[in-house]
Parts: sequence; C-alpha cells; structure tokens
Amino acid sequence: MVDVGIIGSGIIGLSLARELAGRGLSTRVLSREPLQKTTSWAAAGIFPPAEDWPAAGPGDRLTALSDRLHWAWRQELLDETGIDNGLAACGGLYLAVNEAGLARLTTEADAWRARGCALEWLTVDTIPDAEPGLSSAVARGLFRGAYLLPTESQIRPPRHLHALEASCRLRGVEIVPDADVTSIECDGDEIHRVCGAHGPHEAGLWVLAGGSWSGTLAEIFGASVQPKPVRGQIVLLRQAAPSLSRILNVGLEYLVPRPDGRVLVGSTLEDIGFVEGTTEPAVERMRQFAGRLVPELADAAVETTWSGLRPSSPDGLPWIGRSPALSNGYVATGHFRAGWHQSPGTACLLADLITGATPTIDPTPFAVDRALGGPDRTAAMVHRAAADLASISW
Ligand SMILES: Cc1cc2nc3c(=O)[nH]c(=O)nc-3n(C[C@H](O)[C@H](O)[C@H](O)COP(=O)(O)OP(=O)(O)OC[C@H]3O[C@@H](n4cnc5c(N)ncnc54)[C@H](O)[C@@H]3O)c2cc1C
Repeated sequence: MVDVGIIGSGIIGLSLARELAGRGLSTRVLSREPLQKTTSWAAAGIFPPAEDWPAAGPGDRLTALSDRLHWAWRQELLDETGIDNGLAACGGLYLAVNEAGLARLTTEADAWRARGCALEWLTVDTIPDAEPGLSSAVARGLFRGAYLLPTESQIRPPRHLHALEASCRLRGVEIVPDADVTSIECDGDEIHRVCGAHGPHEAGLWVLAGGSWSGTLAEIFGASVQPKPVRGQIVLLRQAAPSLSRILNVGLEYLVPRPDGRVLVGSTLEDIGFVEGTTEPAVERMRQFAGRLVPELADAAVETTWSGLRPSSPDGLPWIGRSPALSNGYVATGHFRAGWHQSPGTACLLADLITGATPTIDPTPFAVDRALGGPDRTAAMVHRAAADLASISW
C-alpha cells in the first residue's frame, strides 16, 4: 500500500505528487486521461508579477510563494529531466482602447505600485518602444494608454507537464493510466479503498485533485467542494517569424507570443457548465482581436484551437486542506484562472499539512469547510468578460 494516492493528474495532482515523493512518501497518481486532455494542458501559462507585500490577501500570498518556487522548480526540472519549461520574464503590456479601459488601467497601475511591483506607465507614443510590433496599431490610433509590467512571465504548459511527469517517475511516483474513480469505500471516517474499472486502490491517505470534476466526489470529500467549470477557448496562430516579444493584455483578452513565432490568443470566460470545445464566433473574435493589434497576425495561419474548463470557487480561493469529514482525505482544487501560477505553492502547502510540517503560509483561508457566503467572485469575473465583449468590437 502506498503512502498517498492522488485522484487527478493535472498540474495540481502532478505537482503534489512530485513534492510528496521528494519528501520521501510513496505516491500513486490515478490519471483518468492523458496530459493532452487535461484543462492544465489548455492553459496559456501567464504569470503576472507576484510580490509578497504586507497587505497581501491569502490568494496573493499563495501566488507569491508559488512564483518563487516556480523559478526554483524550473532549474530543478531541467537538471532532473533535461526539459526546459520555458519559464521566462518576457514582460506584459496592458493596453486601453477606450476611455473606460484607460480609467481601469489607472486604477490597476496604482494597485500594482502599492504592491511594490515594477511598472512603467507609457504614453501612446512610447508604446512601440516597449513593443515594436504595435507600431502600426499606434499609428492607427487604436490605444488610449498603456503600462508595462516588466516582470510578467510566461511558461510553456505542455513542456512543464512533461517535465513534471518525468520528474515524478524519476522520484518513483506510480502514474496509473485510464483510472476513472467511480466510487470510494469508507470505513467510518477513513477512506478504505478507491474504486473504478481499473480496479481498487489502497493508500494511507487520499487527495482529491480532480479539477472541475471534483464535485462528483464531494459527497465523500466535503459537500462544499463544488468547483464550477468556466470554459476558456484559445486560438493558436502560427507565423514564420516572431512579430512580438511581450504578452499583450486588453481587458481580459490577451496575446502570448512564443519565441518560435507562434502566438496564443485567448480567452473566453463562459459559465455554461461541462461543455467543452470551441465555437466559431469566439474563434473569429480572437482572430479579429489579434489582427487589429498586429496586422501581420490577420493573415497568420490558425494552427489549432482548443478549450479547457477552469475549476472555480465562489470566493476566488482554492480548496486546500484536509476534508473535515475524513481522517485520511485531502482536497486541492478550485484554482480557477491561477492554477498554473499557484501550483507549486499548493503542492508545498498541502505537503506541509500531510507531513505535519509547519505550513509555509497560513492554510486557514483555503479550508475545505470554510464559509462561502460572500460575493461570488467568479460570477463577477464572468460578468466582466461579457461586458468587455459587448463594449469592445474588434
Ligand atoms: C484557456 C485557459 C487559460 C488558462 N490560463 C492560465 C494562465 O495563464 N495561468 C494560470 O495560472 N492558469 C491558467 N488557467 C487555469 C489553469 O489551467 C487551471 O486552474 C488548472 O489547470 C487546474 O488544474 P487541475 O489540476 O486542478 O485540473 P485539471 O487540469 O482539470 O486536472 C484534473 C484531472 O483530474 C481528473 N479527474 C477528475 N475526476 C476524476 C475521477 N473521478 N477519477 C479520475 N480522475 C479524475 C480530470 O479528468 C483531470 O484530468 C487557464 C485555464 C484555461 C482553460
């Protein structure tokens, strides 16, 4: 019997498995689908600056911890597996295309500065100094203002997932394919066996890291663990040569240029349940958006499109901790739009709780049985995306 069994092999499940194995625990991951089919594979991989400033809330503290760990993990994964996950501080530009957008940028810039983040406010004329690929859009008068976050970073999700999987195997983690958990047998408050067509599995303790699908096991792990899926669609454009170097953000829409000339265009925020796949209107809008910002992208080939279901929580925080109803059951899910950024911190925090180490950050705000009665932050974000769609036509 292994020490720990993990249900789910997305970025959260694999990061935790790697961390636990590194601390000497025998670990088995039940993987329902290959990496390429997970929401984690679908992510853009944008990491905004993540300072740990005195007034930081719990989500920001988790992100700050994770951000520090990501840079260490990048090197460790490279040393262990030879895979470079592409983590790089390429900088992010935040652009306004109307007066409302400019007002929002001003407020955001004040907030970034209050956190101690490096930020450069740009006049319209100086935007091309920060990103020459925007010269044409500036000449056409598209922008009202902008700021640059020089430390905004990007990671290549598929590479990092491959590196994590390889690192897990090197550390002795057993990854069981096609393992769909359909039922859980308990003995009192203890999980006895986890079952599915693949056969029963036993472990000293279990972690639910099932992303948007975690709610199907909530009866066992905790009634409030009901992440709502929020679909995000992405278009991948291909250019012969790179025309951009910065991440470009307009409202909640973005372009992420990869060094090989590919440009990722994202993303929608759709509260439509467990519906996957891309839609023609969304793909068309993202193509228009890219072409308006960078004319070279108007004719770029669409290499592929995809979607993923982000696991959201009402208060915007993930659930990380022990299930109150279980003596050997834990949860790590609900990371919504920040699951990539927050993955190593989540792994370390939960590994601390599992091994009895002093937690690096306060785990209380992420408690599985915390009250969720406040304003619905996910709904507010989805509403904002819809308002942007209505107010900006590309
Ligand atoms: C378009 C898009 C862009 C994004 N961009 C970013 C970004 O730039 N930065 C960032 O930080 N985050 C981003 N995210 C969010 C991030 O991708 C998610 O928060 C993260 O992938 C969630 O990881 P996870 O491991 O919890 O879930 P998943 O990746 O969904 O993995 C969970 C796994 O558990 C499996 N599972 C569920 N139930 C069972 C069961 N009963 N038995 C067996 N297996 C089960 C699922 O099948 C799945 O494979 C983005 C998401 C999307 C969709």
